[in-house]
Amino acid sequence: MKVLFIYPNINAQVGFNYGLASISAMLKEHGHTTRLLNLNEKLSTLPSDEEIKDYIRDYAPGLIGMSVVTPQYPTALRTARLIKEDFPDVPILIGGVHPTLVPEEVLKEDCFDYACTGEGEEAVLELVTKMEGGENTSNTQNIWAKTNGELKQNTVRPFVDLSKLPRKDYELFDLQHMINKEDGWVRLMGSRGCPFRCSYCFNHKIVDRYRNELSSSDVGYIRRHRLKDVLDEIDYLLRTYRGIKTFIFDDDIFTFDKKFLRDFCAEYPKLTEVPFVVNGHVRAFDEERAKMLKEGGCSIVKFGLESGSERIRQDVLRRPMSNEEITRAFDAAHKYGLHTSAFVMIGLPYETREDVLATVELLGRIRPGRFRWAIFFPFPRTDAYDMSLQGGYIDFKKMRELENFTEASCLDFGSEHNLFISKLQRVFPWYVNTYSENSLGSIYSFLTRVIEDMPLEKWEETKDDIISLDGELSKSLDKAGCKHYSFRYNSFTAVRSDWENAKAK
Ligand code: SF4
Repeated sequence: MKVLFIYPNINAQVGFNYGLASISAMLKEHGHTTRLLNLNEKLSTLPSDEEIKDYIRDYAPGLIGMSVVTPQYPTALRTARLIKEDFPDVPILIGGVHPTLVPEEVLKEDCFDYACTGEGEEAVLELVTKMEGGENTSNTQNIWAKTNGELKQNTVRPFVDLSKLPRKDYELFDLQHMINKEDGWVRLMGSRGCPFRCSYCFNHKIVDRYRNELSSSDVGYIRRHRLKDVLDEIDYLLRTYRGIKTFIFDDDIFTFDKKFLRDFCAEYPKLTEVPFVVNGHVRAFDEERAKMLKEGGCSIVKFGLESGSERIRQDVLRRPMSNEEITRAFDAAHKYGLHTSAFVMIGLPYETREDVLATVELLGRIRPGRFRWAIFFPFPRTDAYDMSLQGGYIDFKKMRELENFTEASCLDFGSEHNLFISKLQRVFPWYVNTYSENSLGSIYSFLTRVIEDMPLEKWEETKDDIISLDGELSKSLDKAGCKHYSFRYNSFTAVRSDWENAKAK
């Protein structure tokens, strides 16, 4: 059967979808044909509605599949409605995190026929096989089905055995084009799952669902691909594609299993000198791990901190690590010469101005090589969503319209704090420079005071000029040899100037 995947990733970073790549590989291994409409304006001009319809007319798929997280859902919905105008008989399956969390919501829409909940490889293959054979499709595990308006809710099947999966279908995404657009960065995933239960992350809900529906507490937290398979995949990518400059592992916590880390870091340098980037967790990081990573060829280790306020981390985010543990992890990474990256969020429910400033202060103290900041988004069905709802924070209109987590909040804190969050989001590195242990605090403190004193209308006129102002200021400070953070790559990442300058030499 011909299956068309649509990845509605507009107004976002270039993204690789591991689920689609893996499902596509599984389908191809069983003789099916797949294609992808990757909707991302950074990769290519977005097709018009007519072009989407023409594409479908030409390819004539037997099934259309989409994979979405919540902010991508509005585009998926609009696209599915558009397709159904001309192709009412082509079934549309929607999968990914959003439908896994709220399958009954998405299937209320006439345009969706199936919702894949949980892992899709075996489920979609079974669905396609049944469709081809003219069999009843309503009883496929992991897939909720709507036939003649009637909803059939199927339970999940056990997790797939990762060692039996074919290699991901990188060609589906035209990986060479992505590598060229992404300056040689290639994304990889060597495991699935995470042992933690942060309130804002869908992980705990998915684990609970598998446990309930399989009536088993023996649902694994982290499942790894075999080391040999990870290395084979890297070897395949290096042999197949040109211009790879960095591998970036998207595993939730790459540093969790010390034995795996030791084995990987011993084998990787035998294969290539291309640097790699991993996600760590401050509770699964120490000097021994830092040393292994450095010797293995790791260039950057990233940590999710989310907030500098221990109260917010403990009570709202359920990420009970201390600021001392965070400092220790960053010190260990820096001791072994690893570049570090910190992720934080602002605009959290129950967060005060002091809590937000605690996040800024923590970054100023631990001095990561770079940091990224996002605005909190309450994923439906997560505990943090319930907390936001109970606190009366959610603006549902804004929530429906949001397409990313970087520019705006869908929570309402009242006009004063809303404006503070909006300003902070635009000038975040300036705040961190204010609190950094360098000689520039007074300059940035003056700038942030000017911004904070601006009334709304003046701020609206000014905010789009911030990045170019920052660029000019950064150039002058570089000339004067002053270390500072400034925007790099996009409007939500800042890099420390000494690292950026050392790299350029
Ligand atoms: S550590 Fe990361 S992946 Fe794991 S539950 Fe928390 S947010 Fe989710």
